[in-house]
Amino acid sequence: MSTPARSDEEWMARAILLATQEKGTDPANTPIAALVVRGGQLVAEGVNRTAEHCDPTAHAEIEALRAACRAVGTMQVRGATLYTTLQPCGMCTMASIWAGVERIVFGAGRSDVHRMYFEDRHLDTVDFIRDAFKKDLTLDGGVLPHECARLYFGPEDDVPEDQQANT
Ligand SMILES: [Zn+2]
Repeated sequence: MSTPARSDEEWMARAILLATQEKGTDPANTPIAALVVRGGQLVAEGVNRTAEHCDPTAHAEIEALRAACRAVGTMQVRGATLYTTLQPCGMCTMASIWAGVERIVFGAGRSDVHRMYFEDRHLDTVDFIRDAFKKDLTLDGGVLPHECARLYFGPEDDVPEDQQANT
């Protein structure tokens, strides 16, 4: 007997819960969470640990991919889906390609949150992927976008400079 596959919304709800359980609800603590799912099963999960680990690469997606690859004992998790509460940056999107991830699903997008979370100017990771790579990775956004965006500073929030990661 198999259990029904979870929907994107159900996985995203789990990611939101993980973000708040591990990081609380203060946007200053960057409560970003990611899950790696394959064949309807959770392989691994991760939350942003950049501050705790003094590691600029310890984004939630990277933490989840590292844990997933350790769990399966290989350097790739081919065919997996990566769920993340916030649109991934270029580093994490690229890492997903190296990891053989087939699909990235994100919650809040660029326009839902403060500009500090993203690249300056017009470059958008989504466009970057569309333009630069083969058709072996799909990127879907807007799964529980409002619930995810509530975790972060909003587009109009006045965020002190010293709390902005991307200045
Ligand atoms: Zn990232």
